[in-house]
Amino acid sequence: MNSAGDSRNRGHKKNGGKKGLVQKSVSPQTSLNDSLEGEVREFLTDESQLHTFDDLTKVNPVTPTTVLKCLQARYSAKLFYTQAGCTLVALNPFQHLPDLYSLDMMKLYHCAPQPQEFKPHIFIVAEEAYRNIRDQLEPLNQSLVVSGESGAGKTWTSRCLMKYYATVAASSSGLKSQNTVERIERRVLDSNPIMEAFGNACTLRNNNSSRFGKYIQLQLNSGQLLVGASVQTYLLEKTRVSCQPADERNFHIFYQMMKGATEGQRREWEMPLHQSFDWLPNSEKQIEEDDFDETVEAMLHMGIKAETQRYILRILAGILHLGNVTFSSSGEEHQLCQLPEEAEESMQTAAKLLSVPAQEFQTCLRVRTLKAGKQSLLKPCSQTECRVRRDCLAKTIYAQLFEWLVSFINSSICADKSTWSSFIGVLDVYGFESFHVNKLEQLCINYANEKLQQHFVAHYLRAQQDEYVSEGLQWSFVKFQDNQSCLDLLEGSPVGVFSLLNEESRLNRASDANMLRVRLEKELSDNPNISWDKFSRAPHFTVAHYAGRVSYQIEGMVEKNKDPVPVELISLLQKSDNPLLCQIFADRETENPTTRGLAKVTVVSKFKNSLENLMSILLNTTPHYTRCIKPNPDCKPLTFKKEEVILQLEACGIVQTIQISAAGFPIRIPFKSFVRRYGLILKHLKKSGGSSDDLHVDNDKPPQQEVEQLLSMVLNQRSCDERCTLVHCGRTKVFLTQAMLDVLEDHRRNI
Ligand code: ATP
Ligand code: MG
Repeated sequence: MNSAGDSRNRGHKKNGGKKGLVQKSVSPQTSLNDSLEGEVREFLTDESQLHTFDDLTKVNPVTPTTVLKCLQARYSAKLFYTQAGCTLVALNPFQHLPDLYSLDMMKLYHCAPQPQEFKPHIFIVAEEAYRNIRDQLEPLNQSLVVSGESGAGKTWTSRCLMKYYATVAASSSGLKSQNTVERIERRVLDSNPIMEAFGNACTLRNNNSSRFGKYIQLQLNSGQLLVGASVQTYLLEKTRVSCQPADERNFHIFYQMMKGATEGQRREWEMPLHQSFDWLPNSEKQIEEDDFDETVEAMLHMGIKAETQRYILRILAGILHLGNVTFSSSGEEHQLCQLPEEAEESMQTAAKLLSVPAQEFQTCLRVRTLKAGKQSLLKPCSQTECRVRRDCLAKTIYAQLFEWLVSFINSSICADKSTWSSFIGVLDVYGFESFHVNKLEQLCINYANEKLQQHFVAHYLRAQQDEYVSEGLQWSFVKFQDNQSCLDLLEGSPVGVFSLLNEESRLNRASDANMLRVRLEKELSDNPNISWDKFSRAPHFTVAHYAGRVSYQIEGMVEKNKDPVPVELISLLQKSDNPLLCQIFADRETENPTTRGLAKVTVVSKFKNSLENLMSILLNTTPHYTRCIKPNPDCKPLTFKKEEVILQLEACGIVQTIQISAAGFPIRIPFKSFVRRYGLILKHLKKSGGSSDDLHVDNDKPPQQEVEQLLSMVLNQRSCDERCTLVHCGRTKVFLTQAMLDVLEDHRRNI
């Protein structure tokens, strides 16, 4: 496939020429890479064998094209996982593969002395994290970061990881507890159907698209058994409750109720079988997530009593009826908007289901209370304002209910701090988004992805290279894309997109979209990461993200950032006879923040804070990256669209990672840990070699000396050049290739 390579390697045959030719490593780096000379790499001459490369770092040369071809060949051969150095690439098979994820398969990977010897699999990642904890490697806590675009398989993979730990680290195994619903593993797993019912929706990209981000920490006790978990969620797309993009749906739970309700529930919710709801588009679409029974059962297991479930479902039914409330214009500025007859009925039903006084409910939606000093002024809302208030009410209730559910789940599955000593965190957040129209949500999501990318770069690329330098190893830097300048643009203080947006939101002035545009242009004009298309109709700004350029619409951004909820609505909900609704709004302020100079938390500042928390957790854990790839946009099995895949590979920096991982020494072990694990080999070699040296490992000897002695005995048959390709001693730790690690592990096993 590469003529230059072919001529270079003419004659070096392996496997009778079937498997391909062997050649020296050709990598873009020098210095240390020069020492890789001699390492045998398979060269891709025979395309029929491409699928056999289970680590992309072995592909030579590593280019986007070779990587792409290799992944495509593996996909056709139904090999969906491929290692890319320290990252696992997971291609979405879009088909059920029960054997690949069976209990036997879990056991196979869990019990294997060297799981890495088997085909790449998500279970290897899971097992590696698990063993790091068992072996007390620092940092002890682990994070499994699962990324990819919508529909790539992040949530599927996260669920799979959770099932793995719930199986191999089950704290209550054995016949006795097999059927006990109280089992903690069961409850941890049951958090998934609940959160997915309330937080996922059918979109154009994915029938089960997560409309929130999630970080779940699986808590392990000192015996590495699963004893609990805690969940943190990010940025629920609450606008979906009242506004569903064309050809998309609302959150699953509404459809589940519509399809799975009992006769009694239908009567209670005033929801006859074919009732139509404005906020339930595309309900004729059948998807497997529409499983009401599963959600109800999971809620029961979680400890949400039948009575509380009834309150939850009444609230949801109330929201649906609220969606059918329409307003007709009064025509006069000072007159109340009227409700058409059917809308009046829907309003009554919504009030009944939300258990709030009907008259006050109507007034709240149509009349604004303006405070001027101690006086209150009542002002009828325009038709548009009425709609905004209606939507705001629905979104606020839904978001608060979701938050309550998450904290309930936490209270049900979180173990007492004294009972757990380590955790494995699984992060499933939305991938980079670039739509035709991008709003504040996309800005936040893409900002989160920038942060994660920076973490990835810092940990796997920069940290790797910096470490070579600080450990005294020579290394030439590969140019990698640093996204700090984009992050400075977004989060920079005092001048950055977010700080300007927050300032505008706090100033609370009219025509804020225009003001925001003017200020962004003025204050950020020198920044190369932002640009404006002066000729476009709607004002917007374009950010050059690491994964591509995205234009954000300015109109509506300030308002969305303020996320105002009229205080009258909160007061109304606090009067609800539905104890749950009343409870979830009990702590909300009813004093209008505008009267207190607006110290309000904005959407952006809240999101930024929770993201900073997440980043500090990630920084203190050992990260493991899995990149999910969506092989085609139609979610079809056995279809690999190269153009789609290459964009995703580029967006996540896979090609660069592969180059660095392949060229360097991806495994580093501090001298002390190294001696702890492999010290016995030295002892054994001395004994079997009949050495008259002291046979015991001397505890007072500096560990570095011991490491060097051990390595020279293990590698005594190899030339000096060859040793350099396998292992280096830095100032505090040993740098190894996977091949060297395998040699040591072999020795250790054979003692
Ligand atoms: P979003 O960002 O929209 O939430 P996602 O990355 O979480 O997307 P998933 O919901 O995990 O995507 O996956 C989409 C669909 O792909 C799943 O519903 C499932 O049908 C299929 N899928 C993903 N991974 C696998 C797998 N390993 N085996 C079988 N099917 C899979
Ligand atoms: Mg998802």
